[in-house]
Amino acid sequence: MRVVVTGGAGFLGSHLCERLIKRGDEVVCLDNFLTGSAANVAHLQGRAGFRLVRTDVTDYLHVVGPVDVVLHFASPASPVDYLQLPIETLKVGSIGTLHALGLAKEKAARLVLASTSEVYGDPEVHPQPETYWGHVNPVGRRGVYDEAKRFAEALTLAYRNTHGVDTGIVRIFNTFGPRMRPDDGRAIPNFIRQALAGEPVTVAGDGKQTRSICYVDDLITGILAMADSDHPGPVNIGNPHEIAMLDLARWIIELTGSESEIVHIERPVDDPTIRQPDTTLAREVLGWEPLVPVEEGLHRTIAWFRAQEQEHAFSVPPLDPQATEHILRGE
Ligand code: NAD
Ligand code: UDP
Repeated sequence: MRVVVTGGAGFLGSHLCERLIKRGDEVVCLDNFLTGSAANVAHLQGRAGFRLVRTDVTDYLHVVGPVDVVLHFASPASPVDYLQLPIETLKVGSIGTLHALGLAKEKAARLVLASTSEVYGDPEVHPQPETYWGHVNPVGRRGVYDEAKRFAEALTLAYRNTHGVDTGIVRIFNTFGPRMRPDDGRAIPNFIRQALAGEPVTVAGDGKQTRSICYVDDLITGILAMADSDHPGPVNIGNPHEIAMLDLARWIIELTGSESEIVHIERPVDDPTIRQPDTTLAREVLGWEPLVPVEEGLHRTIAWFRAQEQEHAFSVPPLDPQATEHILRGE
């Protein structure tokens, strides 16, 4: 298969590209490096079938040759990122999704949209099944992300119903693993970075709010199962392992062997209080369920962060931007 991955140089996108290349597919990775980096896919450069092209998907989107699948993953995803980039987030969720759907229509390809558990907002139903309509504040600060994704879902359905495009929607719940940016502001990279540095670990509010956390390898398996199916979704993909943020902070301190203390910081506005996927549908229609225990995933992620820290301590000079420009253009 020939697969276009938008946002392919991000955290999830780079894992998708890696797995697709490993199974023998061709990959066109499109990214503007807004919140991702070419370094995330540097190990794939030069591999047969892999091509990285610097593109903003909110501009006109053009790919030469046949395309079987479009995995539309471009979008800032961490609250810190999308609150700093509100207009870029709304544009990529709306105009970017329009272009990705247009590409899928032109190439008669299947498109899988990376939607999010944030479409459920601060949920009043627990755990959240796909039939739940959500509880979102459209004019709250998180509205820029939540409403962009809700719009993207509606647009995806409109292309399916009006133009017959083969589409699938996945609602992704909190995922963690190697290649998360240490400064992306999400709880797990923050806690690991802080614990490894012996700095105070910052828990928002009293830390009783929960998330359900999935190791990246499991998530990628679920996304590819959706890409290989013809199910329209939406399908929740996530690990139902639910944990309070204070307990997660304590767990990471223990696993890193850190002596960090916990400090409490202000809780962000509209921060969801509870979140857990109902994964019945994913089991039934995709035969998918997460297999990596969360503790094992945390060990692997901590090991990766440690290795990064060491690498940067003996760091090589940064790449010459002019020398890498032709690589970024996919030449
Ligand atoms: P990320 O920020 O690491 O990756 C997003 C990538 O999209 C980045 O490489 C960024 O440069 C790129 N991008 C942004 N705007 C673009 C544009 N206009 N044109 C081209 N590229 C653009 O985030 P992630 O965690 O890998 O998330 C990927 C996708 O999965 C997002 O759509 C996100 O909403 C969704 N998602 C992620 C999670 C999670 O836990 N990681 C949860 C729910 C949904
Ligand atoms: N959080 C925290 N400390 C941090 C960063 C985040 O306690 O340093 C909290 C945040 O307020 C939220 C939870 O951790 O309640 C998960 O936040 P994250 O940004 O990882 O994911 P999201 O809110 O998008 O689910």
